[in-house]
Amino acid sequence: MLRSLTLVGLTSAFTMLGLATAADAPLPPGVDPLTGPEVSLEAQWQGRAGVGPRIPILVLAGHADSQGIEGSGTAGAAVDLHRSEPMDGRMRDELYWNLAVRDAVVAQGRQRGLNIRAYTPASLTIHDEDDPRTNWSVGRRHSAAGGYALEIHFDAYGPDGFGSGLIPALNRPLNRFDESLAIAFGRYPKRFRGGLGAPRRGISILEIGKLEGALETGLRSPEGRQASLSTIARRITEALVLALPQSPPEAPLSSRPDGAGSAPRGMDRQTSSEDA
Ligand SMILES: [Zn+2]
Repeated sequence: MLRSLTLVGLTSAFTMLGLATAADAPLPPGVDPLTGPEVSLEAQWQGRAGVGPRIPILVLAGHADSQGIEGSGTAGAAVDLHRSEPMDGRMRDELYWNLAVRDAVVAQGRQRGLNIRAYTPASLTIHDEDDPRTNWSVGRRHSAAGGYALEIHFDAYGPDGFGSGLIPALNRPLNRFDESLAIAFGRYPKRFRGGLGAPRRGISILEIGKLEGALETGLRSPEGRQASLSTIARRITEALVLALPQSPPEAPLSSRPDGAGSAPRGMDRQTSSEDA
């Protein structure tokens, strides 16, 4: 999908002009059946820095310490537009799902052998963002100590949201985890919205998708919930595992297909990756 982004962008611009009301049209490129549209903003960065096999991964639920104050997250389309009850009256629905995804990722990640854990702030409302107990403070310390900090989010519904994708940390070299998650979910510009609070502190943000439509319906449905959560978690843990060095690290650098002129022909998927 990413390799043909320019083509996709042009195609969908024309498609939107002609098919604005065709609600039953097949999913256009860039729209995932589970997580919906992928962010389509221009983004050039690549995460190249390697990650060690035992790098500590900290997973945070976005907005876990900012309920009832500015920055409390999206209530989701179901609550805001369709008068559904919130999933939990103490919090916006986004936090409810951020927590659920976070826990599924940590559980699956441990099964896959990742050195991964969650953090939960002591209170749902901490007014000072630099209080040492906030997501941002704990994530900042974790990142500064050489770990990988990832904060889970769902994006706003409707025209306010951009879709799924990774917003990478700003104050450290971008690494293989950032790259792998961007390939799996989409790639936001490095300085999205001028640089958000979490990325400035070394925390990468993963937008799972806009909290609306099939994604929200699947999560809210008692029958669909577990499947939705475990599919999302699998996509994340798979991306993290794929970013780790292969073990045993036997392939010499010269045999890898990233050196100029050394790539086998079959590796060049530039022109044939409609659905890569
Ligand atoms: Zn959020």
